[in-house]
Parts: sequence; C-alpha cells; structure tokens
Amino acid sequence: MSIKEDLKYAIGVDLGGTFVKAALVSDVGDIVFTNKLPIGSQASKDTILNTIEKIIQMAIDEANTSELDIIGIGLGTPGIVQDGVILGGSENLNGWENIDLSTYYNQKFGIPVLVDNDANLMGLGEFFYGAAKGCTDVVFLTIGTGIGGAIIANGELYGGYGNRGTELGHIVVEHNGPECNCGGKGCLELYSSTTALIKDYSERSGKDVKDLDGHYIIKKFNENEENAIKCLQEHTDYLGHGVASFINTFAPQKVVIGGGISDAGQFYIDMISKSAFTYMMPSCGSNTEIVGAKLGNNAGSLGAAALIFKAYNK
Ligand SMILES: [Zn+2]
Repeated sequence: MSIKEDLKYAIGVDLGGTFVKAALVSDVGDIVFTNKLPIGSQASKDTILNTIEKIIQMAIDEANTSELDIIGIGLGTPGIVQDGVILGGSENLNGWENIDLSTYYNQKFGIPVLVDNDANLMGLGEFFYGAAKGCTDVVFLTIGTGIGGAIIANGELYGGYGNRGTELGHIVVEHNGPECNCGGKGCLELYSSTTALIKDYSERSGKDVKDLDGHYIIKKFNENEENAIKCLQEHTDYLGHGVASFINTFAPQKVVIGGGISDAGQFYIDMISKSAFTYMMPSCGSNTEIVGAKLGNNAGSLGAAALIFKAYNK
C-alpha cells in the first residue's frame, strides 16, 4: 500500500464576500487541488449556495479521479455560526442567515459537513498546520478591512457560549472613541485595521484613500517617510494595546498576526511586540511569542479541512 492510500482527505471551503475557494487537503496539510469561483456582489442566497455546491463538486470529482478518500467537508463563512447554522452577521452576503449549511450540504453529498466562522477557521489552520503548530493556547488576529480573530484554548477553538464571541476586533481601546458599526465606540479595528491605517495616512498626507493601500504605506515606511512612520507607529501601538489585553486574558503561547499587511516584514511584528510587551502584565505573557501567520490566503481552507480532521480522523 502506498503512503498516498494511507492519507485521508478533506475538502476545505472558504467563503468570502467576493469569492468562494475550495481546497482538497490531506490530513498532513498538503493541498492537492484548489479552485476559486466568483460570487457577484448582488448574488442571492440561492446563487451563493449553488456556487458553493459547484466548487465542492469540483473537488469531489478531482478526488474521485485521483482515488482519494474524502472524509468530510469543512466550510468557513463570514458571520455567526452555531451548530452548522449560519445565523447572520455576514453583511456582504445577501440573505445569508438562518441556513443550516451543515445539513444542506450533508444531504447533497452524503459525507459529514462542519461549519464555522471564517476567522475562527483561519486561526484553526494556523494552529493545525502553520505558525502555531504544536501549541495548545493561541490568539490569532487577522488584520484587513476590519480585524477578525480566533482563540484556541487548551487545544480547542473557543467561541464562547453559542459560538457568539471572540470578536477580537471589537474590544474597546478608546472608551469615548468614534462609533463603530458593531454598536460600540472606540473598537480596536477602528484604530488598527488596514482601513484605519489608510485613513490615518490619507489624513496626514492629503492623498486620496482611493490611491492608497497597505503596501504603499509599508513602502513609504521603508523609505523613512515621516507620515508613514507616524502612521505605523500609531497603528502598531494600538494593536499592541489590544494584543496586551488578549495576553492578559488568555496567556497564549503564541499570538499569530495574519492578514495581508502581516507580510510587510519582521519589523511589523517587532513593532507590535514592542508595544504589546510594554503594556501587558509580565506574568501573563512570560511564555508568549508574537509571530506572523504562515499560511497566507490558504489559512481559511486549511482550517476548514482541519475542522474535519479534528472531528473525524481519530
Ligand atoms: Zn466595534
């Protein structure tokens, strides 16, 4: 029997606001097939459901051709997910609420389907296969348009009662700060998301936000431009305050920083670490390391597959 025949495979589906991606993943974390289909911004609930079904079928066809044994389908989606049901909270997807995705796709494909929030699964991916492999207690943050996060506590994803918590971008860092679309004020993501960084740079430099992105500001930082330095100091200082709070609460072995901007370089992680280690309680963070994510755009699909392996590959 070949090694290949010993491996089990899962399909990891990662639903975003504009694309759905699927990967065929082995239980040691090798991606043997990936695909990506667009989801129009006006797509209806049925269109989204059908697009996911189509991409799963493509991965199954690939597995059948290669005679690979699929043990389940993991699915990551924006929003609040409880027991396989997307309850809501994914504003960019029309009608994406109160759908029992687990049952729906289980009936279509006849294999186990597990569903969780996309940021949770990115964190699970980094925990299983990436920057936090071998740890038991991890805080994961993804820095993008907003800030998403995941907590791994004692080797398990922790989502609070009913899996409704761990909205790590919505801890308060300025109690009378600007209003956040979550209903609160002064949330971390208003200060430390890529959106916030771009807005800050735009205000300081007079450049239009439409002409800016995170990479441009990093480039200017590396050229020692004063505005870019100030913006990144502010951005990482706020982020460090947030990370310090997470360290004080969870005492993680690793804090993993993901999202496009985390590719900026080690200096970015070092700036966050400097701030976090200044503000945390030293006893809480004595075993904590702050590191960049390793899996990039594949974190979500790898984490979705990991959800299946964790449950069914014992
Ligand atoms: Zn908020």
